[in-house]
Amino acid sequence: MTDPTRSFGHELAAALRAGEVSSRELTQAHLENAERQNHALNAWLSIDAEEALRQADAADARIAVARVEGSEALAGLHPLLGLPVALKDLVSVAGGPCTAGSRILEGYRAPYDAHITERLRDAGAVLIGKTNMDEFAMGSSNEWSAFGQVSNPWDLDRVPGGSSGGSATAVAAFHSPFGIGTDTGGSIRQPAALTGTVGLKPTYGRVSRYGIVAFASSLDQIGPFARDSRDAAALLHAIAGRDERDATSSPVPVPDELLDIPAADDEAAAWLEGKRLGLPAEYFVKGMEPGVEERIRQAVDALEGAGATVEEVSLPHTDYGLATYYIVVPAEASANLARYDGVRYGHSVRLEGGDFIADYLATRGEGFGPEVKRRIMLGTYALSAGYYDAFYLKAQKVRTLIKRDFDEVFESGIDALVAPTSPSVAFKFGARIADPVAMYLSDACTLPANMAGIAGLSVPCGLSDGLPVGLQFIGAPWSELELLRFGRAYEAITVDADWRRLEPTQLSIADDAAGPTPSERAARLAAAVA
Ligand code: GLN
Repeated sequence: MTDPTRSFGHELAAALRAGEVSSRELTQAHLENAERQNHALNAWLSIDAEEALRQADAADARIAVARVEGSEALAGLHPLLGLPVALKDLVSVAGGPCTAGSRILEGYRAPYDAHITERLRDAGAVLIGKTNMDEFAMGSSNEWSAFGQVSNPWDLDRVPGGSSGGSATAVAAFHSPFGIGTDTGGSIRQPAALTGTVGLKPTYGRVSRYGIVAFASSLDQIGPFARDSRDAAALLHAIAGRDERDATSSPVPVPDELLDIPAADDEAAAWLEGKRLGLPAEYFVKGMEPGVEERIRQAVDALEGAGATVEEVSLPHTDYGLATYYIVVPAEASANLARYDGVRYGHSVRLEGGDFIADYLATRGEGFGPEVKRRIMLGTYALSAGYYDAFYLKAQKVRTLIKRDFDEVFESGIDALVAPTSPSVAFKFGARIADPVAMYLSDACTLPANMAGIAGLSVPCGLSDGLPVGLQFIGAPWSELELLRFGRAYEAITVDADWRRLEPTQLSIADDAAGPTPSERAARLAAAVA
């Protein structure tokens, strides 16, 4: 087959079964892209080519056996078998590095597989490496990684979004058809929007968090990146479901229909007939870029033109989302990060003649970056005696109000909400780094779904100023299948759009291993501003 990196996962799965390509060949092609472009993009913190090829050979052996057994055995193979997956570097892979983008976990080796790692191994997926991210998933631009910025393949001077910026970039730049991210306030959907990929935040409890580095435990969810909705559905199918080791993971059955999302455009589009979409007025936030708003309104018109009805709805507590999120999240983060004490994990400072407390302070002082320190201070403050009721408890109550807004809309018969994912396209390095509140605003349209524990999907819906825009579908708990059908339907009705045929515009510049790294680009931009 011609370049296998340009195919969707479902196309590669078919080609593998038809014997047109081997997992080894397609894995090698993806590894070549990843290794060649990592200088310019810095999407990967580690790539394990040898192990990936070993897994690819194992997949090829499984396919060979199934082929001998007959067509039923071939059809029974998981669609992810033999296909590369990029893991955000907070997913534990036994014996491998797991930095969570932090110095404090440098040198740490994961002692066991995360639940999703086990599930991906069962499916026969090929784990090619670990991707860059904001430190402990705190950020919206990947600029808070301790291991350097990541460049957006649509414009190498711009961020890919965050915190799962590495996985989004790896999928956008054809290093892998599949990626794993985590989304606590938008960290899958926002980078998906900024890189022109598909990203899904499942319902809280859909995917086990066992073996995932914790950030804010009552909001963190693991989810897929892909280049279309069918692939995202297949990856969700592989990782979702109850796991005894995460008490918050749910026994709600994972629908097998995730593997049967219509391939035919007519069928996918016809599904829209009679569906009711809600357009939340509050999501067209102040400061939203006009070009983004235009793309979203166009997408909404297209959905309406194809048979869905679109109604204005109101989620009146949306405005409080950001403020309550930045109480709840730092509070939980400050508790989760207490474990990095220089004794149990990774980086450790031992001072000459120092006592335990001095070593502890020095380890954390050196090991954590500025955003993590800011969150620990905010969170510790919000949880301290005398402030707990005023901040944390109050925020939890407002959180209930935010959840109720969604409940009411879905109880009224709305099938899903349709909204922007990010109020802006990808921004330049440095544009928001000195202003935490500007950075936090990146997630104004995504974090309410996390606060409510419900599902959200971002799909590409065109370009503004040559940069990708993301369209978000938000659904009731356990509605991932419906959201992905909406995503698929939108893909079907825009299949002929010119922008669908465009690849990220600066991929060829990213081939240059002698050009500037993302950090050098960021430094250059900072110097030009100063
Ligand atoms: N940008 C948000 C934050 O910094 C969301 C991060 C995330 O979803 N992990 O908290």
